[in-house]
Amino acid sequence: MPAKMKIRKGDQVVVLSGKDRGKKGKIVSSSPRDNKVMVEGVNIVKKHARPTQKVTQGGIREMEAPIYASKVKLICPSCQKPTRISHRVLSEGKKVRVCKKCTEVIDK
Ligand SMILES: [Zn+2]
Repeated sequence: MPAKMKIRKGDQVVVLSGKDRGKKGKIVSSSPRDNKVMVEGVNIVKKHARPTQKVTQGGIREMEAPIYASKVKLICPSCQKPTRISHRVLSEGKKVRVCKKCTEVIDK
């Protein structure tokens, strides 16, 4: 079984390696099966688009391509620092993600 991803859609992350190293962005989609995420403005690739009825002009479209989840690190919404995630179980039995730096709950 693949390791469960700790980051999810909507998380703010920073890129750790590759050409976009240091870039920050929001996760726009994640695919836990391949352990990959798509980050806003990161790993932009150019794709040739065909003209359609809606878009009469074809040409080159720029879009994000997925990168490995291990290449990004979550930015804590509370302390604004790249951080590791730990988990905490609340009294109601709900499991939440917690910032290892400031121990604030990430999932609101
Ligand atoms: Zn924090």
